[in-house]
Amino acid sequence: MSITKRGIWMPAEDSVLSKVEADPMIRLLDTPIVQHKVTLLRNKETGMKDTNELVRELGAITLYEMSHDLPMQTISVETPMTGTDSLELAGRKPALVKILRAGSVMVDGARMFIMPTAKVATIGMHRNPDDITDPVGYFDKIPEDMSEREAFILDPMLATGYSAEKAIRMLKEEGCQKIHFATIFSVWDGIELLRTKHPDVNLCLCVVDHHLDDNYYIIPGAGDMGDRLDGTI
Ligand code: URA
Repeated sequence: MSITKRGIWMPAEDSVLSKVEADPMIRLLDTPIVQHKVTLLRNKETGMKDTNELVRELGAITLYEMSHDLPMQTISVETPMTGTDSLELAGRKPALVKILRAGSVMVDGARMFIMPTAKVATIGMHRNPDDITDPVGYFDKIPEDMSEREAFILDPMLATGYSAEKAIRMLKEEGCQKIHFATIFSVWDGIELLRTKHPDVNLCLCVVDHHLDDNYYIIPGAGDMGDRLDGTI
């Protein structure tokens, strides 16, 4: 159990938290508002409606946090008062990427509040009961111009990391050159896999938890997020 540099408690071991905090490709959102929402999400008494709202809100917050370094350019604009120079986004157009099921709710929040005109890629995957390392893809719809876009994958749970890793691989196969991955609950297993296989991908995490159980659920975590969001528990 560890305290982050900003003084916020995380269930991860000290050694894990030190590696996360030292990694320039990882942004850990150890801030009071995010941690408050994480705690509400953990609580098994939090119902379906509130769970959806919280995941949407954290989708918007994580996308906003990942967008800190987007390139900008100066343009001229007329305000009702005068002309002025002002900044707008430049560079590649964004695409939001949802990994079904739970990622769709995070992406909903991100589109609703932060990037309403971004195209959306959808990737459907489920666990392979015979081989956890090789998730089964059952659907994908990726914008044709993905090679010209900057991708923001949102998925609330980074557990083993195998579905995230496969989604990143699929985007790279489409020619995508700049990829970010945001999650709410994470553990070292998934973080390490992504940092090893895709060292060029930026990660944004809300919390780092302690371990995976025998069924690959995050402990303490928040349970099966797809079931909690859809009320299928
Ligand atoms: N997916 C979930 O929904 N929960 C976990 O704890 C891990 C993966």
